[in-house]
Amino acid sequence: LVFAASVSTAAPAAPAGESTEASIRTRADALIAQMTPEEKAAQLITYFRGLGNIQDERVIGGAGSFLFFSDPKEINRLQTLAVEKSRLKIPLLFGFDVIHGLSTIFPVPLAQAASWDPAMIERNQALAAGEARAVGIHWTFGPMLDIARDPRWGRMVEGAGEDPYLGSAVAAAQVRGFQGARIGVPGHIIAGPKHFVGYGAALGGRDYDEVDLSDSQLWNVYLPPFKAAVDAGAGNVMSAYMGLNGIPAAANHWLLTDVLRKTWGFNGWVVSDGQNVANLPTHGIAKDAQEAAAKALDAGLDMEMAFAGPAFASLPKAVEAGQVSGQRLDQAVRSVLEVKLRMGLFENPYVDAAKAAKALRSPANLAAARVAAERSAVLLKNEGSLLPLDRKAVHSIAVIGGLADSPRDSNGPWVFKFNEPALQGILDGIKAKAGARMSVGYAPGVKIPPRFNASIIDGMNADLKRPEPKDDDSGIAEAVALARQSDVAVVVVGEPQGMSGEMASKSNLDLPGRQQELLDAVVATGKPVVVLLLNGRPLDLHETKAQAILDVWYPGSRGGDAAANLLFGDAVPGGKLPFTWPRNVGQVPLIYSHLTSHDPKGANKRYSNESNAPRYPFGYGLSYSTFAYASPSLDRPSITQDGAVTVSVDLTNTGKVTADEVAQLYIHQRSGTAARPVRELKGFQRVTLKPGEMRTLRFRLGPNELRYWNAAARGWVIDASTFDVAVGGDSTSPFIASFEVTGP
Ligand code: BGC
Repeated sequence: LVFAASVSTAAPAAPAGESTEASIRTRADALIAQMTPEEKAAQLITYFRGLGNIQDERVIGGAGSFLFFSDPKEINRLQTLAVEKSRLKIPLLFGFDVIHGLSTIFPVPLAQAASWDPAMIERNQALAAGEARAVGIHWTFGPMLDIARDPRWGRMVEGAGEDPYLGSAVAAAQVRGFQGARIGVPGHIIAGPKHFVGYGAALGGRDYDEVDLSDSQLWNVYLPPFKAAVDAGAGNVMSAYMGLNGIPAAANHWLLTDVLRKTWGFNGWVVSDGQNVANLPTHGIAKDAQEAAAKALDAGLDMEMAFAGPAFASLPKAVEAGQVSGQRLDQAVRSVLEVKLRMGLFENPYVDAAKAAKALRSPANLAAARVAAERSAVLLKNEGSLLPLDRKAVHSIAVIGGLADSPRDSNGPWVFKFNEPALQGILDGIKAKAGARMSVGYAPGVKIPPRFNASIIDGMNADLKRPEPKDDDSGIAEAVALARQSDVAVVVVGEPQGMSGEMASKSNLDLPGRQQELLDAVVATGKPVVVLLLNGRPLDLHETKAQAILDVWYPGSRGGDAAANLLFGDAVPGGKLPFTWPRNVGQVPLIYSHLTSHDPKGANKRYSNESNAPRYPFGYGLSYSTFAYASPSLDRPSITQDGAVTVSVDLTNTGKVTADEVAQLYIHQRSGTAARPVRELKGFQRVTLKPGEMRTLRFRLGPNELRYWNAAARGWVIDASTFDVAVGGDSTSPFIASFEVTGP
């Protein structure tokens, strides 16, 4: 196909020079003036990729947007139809779930959050955006900002864990990475934070279940990452599937209009989650599709994501019937046209398909994916300093577990089949690193069962087959024999790709299949055992006696190299858990920032059969080095409510290797007008220190850190109180200083 350099549309051309806000508005309004009600409604629908010619008909009819296209030739073909064959020649907007990379796959979002390195996360999402924009994608359904405090919920893997402070830092970084400084920066795509809001609090961790959240939880925990994303300039927001306190998010005027637009000043457009406007009658909030469309639009939802039979097709009738105003319809259309104008699509709707392929999986992007996997890994256990493996003493390694040789699984969810050929499994990385000096044996052990439900993702990967090991005792016997002959066993266990993510909630945290039996049998040989975990949620390894546990999550395109570097000490683990790791599913939900209504000393029997302590605390992670915190000081003993205090602490690498530490600052408010959590994260820094090196770290605590949403006052308050401060390597560090906030 040959494309004309400039495209004629019904929109007036941009005036010479910058397209200013005013000219964007003028151009959008000029188009709106020419649109029929049907054309307006069509602009407000994003269609899932469908079969056959259905797309072409929709484009010619004026459809506004599609999702799930990633072939630049097909994208160009559809754009040609839009700008040549549709009446008003409005270009299409293409969306895609670019969650942790498009073609170069970075570690899953939960893993990247475990790096506690927002600057790296921002760079990675910028690289992902570059690949996506090169193939013709304009918009990502990400980042996912749902706080997750119940690991039964499968989508925990897509977010940043349990904490609103860490979650907000990661949210802003992702938005900046995807979008750049503003909408329309070349090589970037629009960020669409989701799912607004509360999806992570689904009852029982069941996917799509109802959510019942107190005002305090909503404002203090679930909304902050979205506020951070809006402040970072996010151009789009996706409403959540579920009902929040009885009102479905897609028709929730308070959420979409009062909070998002009026209180926060969001001026982008809001899209529904898949089929969710058409599903409003199922929630029982509308009697039919027309009423659903009217209610959603009126609530502040601008675009419907639809498979087929969009409810928004009935908007012209709804306006005619007076169910929603024509002005509100125009406002929604304007928000969509404006983003197309800002993205420069009227001037240049096409991509260079020949160049697109070169932008994918470049050596630089793959190197960034490896570094990200190394920086995301969390060392959970390391008895007797088994890790890093001693190259002089280890001559043979037994790699055990089917997930070791399954590149697809080490990528995690939201990875599509066009990425498969260049992928690398854990075994590949270990073999490459071992070279000729070390023998590497492999035994898959046991079969890992397929997931219980098919998903969109599995559907897209339907033709890919995971290697299927044996599912009888002989596989375990073979693995045990291999371990016996080897100096060390690396047992790779966890959840396959499809068991983590959407429609992948679970009622227990056990290793699927017979992996626990396999692990126990290998440990019973008495050989040193390293567990490498592939996971997107905490798992229950039933008090395994393995000496070392290294969590590499779903590490992505270069996860094998990263894992090998970490095993042999060419990279040092420095990640920390972004969630509290429960001992077992019965403790769920378990968070570090809980309230306490009982003397903490007497409260160690909340369960009569189980401790209150988690398996691993929030913020926890070991290193191949050791660190010491000393000389905490505050620059002043007291501040007023609008003041700020600076906390300083000396951090020293007291071990033998250069390594990273994530220093975490927590506060505790002793008294005030509401009960406050036992501690809350309010600052963190990841630093690299050489052996013996000391650095003074400074953390500022001001109104943003000290305020909280008070349910009784129905607003933000800063209480006059004593605040305790802890700085350390995880959420169990002792309080080391305190300061006063005085009254007004
Ligand atoms: C998910 C969204 C996703 C959308 C499009 C939905 O089922 O909840 O997170 O962006 O599908 O793939």
